[in-house]
Formats: sequence, C-alpha cells, structure tokens
Amino acid sequence: MTQATDPACTTRVPFSFELYPPRSDAAASALHATIDRLAAAGPEFISVTYGANGSSRGSSLEVLKYILAATAVEPMAHLTCVGSSHTEANRLIREFLDAGIRNFLAIRGDPPAGVLETEPFLGDLKSAGELVQLIHRVQAERVPYQESVIPGLPQARSVKTEREKVRIAVAAFPNGHPSSRSTSQDIDTLLAKQAAGANLAVTQLFFHADHYLSFIQRAREAGVEFPILPGIMPVTSPTRLRRILELSGEELPSELSIQLEVEPTDEGQREIGTLHAVRLGNELLAGGAPGLHLYAFNQHETVLSVLEGCGVLGAQNRTPTLSHPAFANTVKESV
Ligand code: FAD
Repeated sequence: MTQATDPACTTRVPFSFELYPPRSDAAASALHATIDRLAAAGPEFISVTYGANGSSRGSSLEVLKYILAATAVEPMAHLTCVGSSHTEANRLIREFLDAGIRNFLAIRGDPPAGVLETEPFLGDLKSAGELVQLIHRVQAERVPYQESVIPGLPQARSVKTEREKVRIAVAAFPNGHPSSRSTSQDIDTLLAKQAAGANLAVTQLFFHADHYLSFIQRAREAGVEFPILPGIMPVTSPTRLRRILELSGEELPSELSIQLEVEPTDEGQREIGTLHAVRLGNELLAGGAPGLHLYAFNQHETVLSVLEGCGVLGAQNRTPTLSHPAFANTVKESV
C-alpha cells in the first residue's frame, strides 16, 4: 500500500460507523442527511444492519446504494443467514454484489422473536463462517479468472486475478457470545471465520477497555491475525442502556448506570454517555486498538462528539482514505 509510507496516513486513526435501515420515508430522508454528515468526517466505511430474517433486505440495500452514490465512503452490508436456503442466500449475495457492494459483515443472525436459540431456526447456512465462504464463492463465480498469454511464451498461459476485491468482516464478542460455553469457543469461532476467508472483525459493544484488550491478546495468541475493531456504543439514556443490555446480554456497567439514572436532563445524560464513550475510545487507542467503530443510532451529533473527544477528527484525519494501512490486509481476492 502506497499510503503506508505517507506520514500523515500512518498517524491517522481510522474510524467507521454503523447505521440501521429507516422504518419510514421521513426517517429515510433524515438518514440521508445523517449519512452526509458522517461521510464528511472521512470514515473508512459505513455499515448498515440487516433484519434477522431478511425483513430489511430492500431498505438496507437502499441505504447502501445511497452511500455508494452520494458519498466517497465505502458502504458495508451486514448480511445474515437466518432462515435462508442455500439458493436464496446465493441470490441475495449476488444482488448485493451486482449493486456494487464490496464490503460485507457476515453474521449468523439471531433466532426470530419467540424462537429459542436451541430450536432449529437457521436454514442451510449454520454459521457466519459458512456465509463468509459463500460470499467469496459467489463473487468468484460472478467474476471468473481471466487467462492471458505470457509475453514470449505463447504456449503458456498465466492466470490473472482481475477480480474486484471483497472485504468480509465478522462479529467478535470480547465478553463471549451469550450461547458460548467457554471463552475458548469464542476464539475458536473467530479462528474458523478467519479460515473461511474473513479479513476483519467488529466487536459487540462492551463497556471496559480491558475486556477488549485482554480478548485481543487471547485472540492473537491463538492465531487470529485480522484487525479487530472495537465497537463503541455511546449510551445516552437509561432507557437505551436497559434496551442494549437486554439485546446484547452484556453485564450492567454500574457506574455509568447510576450516573445516567440520577441525571434529570436529556442534555446531561447525553453528555455523560458521550464522556464515557470518549474515555473508552481513548483507553482503547492507548492500548493499541486499530481504530474505532461507532454505533451511531442513525444520528451524527453524538458519535462525532465522541471522535472529537478522542482527538481523531483533527486535520490529519479529515482526508478519507478507503484503504487505511491498519486495514491493509483486509481486502483480498476472492478464492
Ligand atoms: P456465529 O459466529 O456463527 O456464532 C454464534 C454462536 O454459535 C457462537 O457462540 C459460536 O461459538 C457458536 N458456534 C458457531 N459455530 C458453531 C459450531 N459449528 N458448533 C458449535 N457452536 C458454534 N444481527 C442481525 O440480525 N443483523 C445485523 O445486522 C447484526 N449486526 C451485528 C453486528 C455486530 C458487530 C455484532 C457483534 C452482532 C450483530 N448481529 C446482527 C447479531 C448477531 O446476529 C448475533 O450476535 C448472533 O447470535 C451471532 O452471530 P455470529 O455471526 O457471531 O454467529
């Protein structure tokens, strides 16, 4: 990568955002304005979530297409395997690739409401790793290898890999996936995703930097090589905190919880959540995190304040680079 030698680039801290698809026309146009503001900050990518059973297929793709058409930022499509046959998953991936999407977050997805984790709910693809493999395979089938003659050796043919590249991220769980039996199972799952062809991971939210940093150490010792971006969720109200703990199964961060509960104003709560996220972001960067991934909740103000507080929206960070050196090994040919 030529950027690796650019001093401005090597000091730049990459960051990225997650959005969810809008649920109404009004929300869609508000989201476009949010995307414009987030894109102007120069993220590496903006990811868009996907409803567990495909419920948001159309609206997720619309948001991804907007990012592609209206900004210079790479969109990243979350895709899940829940309930799909092999043929349906194949068709879905092809549709996203045909729309120009080259970055994916491949996830298994959760059981639909009312269905237990122990009941059969998945479909043909049983894990995120299988989805990673399928994305690579569909891309390989869409864009076959091109043969070319080697100059001076007309009988010999070289195989040129002219394929467009795909980046496939996966989920990682510093405090363990709720259905994991042990911490080693989480690391083994990550290794299986790496073997399947994943080249980046984004973590579930967490509240303490040492949870992420010790997880990274264990992952590296086990042989996980790709960058693992910490996912930071600024928690700006007690209601939001309760909701995300319910969804993620994370333990209650008692200090933050008490601060939010005793603060009477919305503005004050927003400030508490922002400051907590800033402190976490700074500790992660000091500990060697390769960048920051912010759960934006379809709003720009809080996440941009967090990045500003972490000192990563300075002049050297303003130029968007689509392949920051920290992610140098995350985009590769499909195999
Ligand atoms: P997997 O990696 O397949 O693993 C899930 C669990 O199964 C782990 O405990 C693993 O150890 C275990 N496991 C996997 N394979 C095996 C095996 N062969 N044998 C035994 N155990 C196994 N959900 C959505 O619906 N839409 C989204 O857009 C979305 N975005 C997300 C973004 C991020 C950054 C994260 C962290 C999660 C997201 N989720 C999303 C939630 C995700 O779908 C759930 O957490 C899901 O339960 C796990 O997905 P996974 O990809 O980690 O699954």
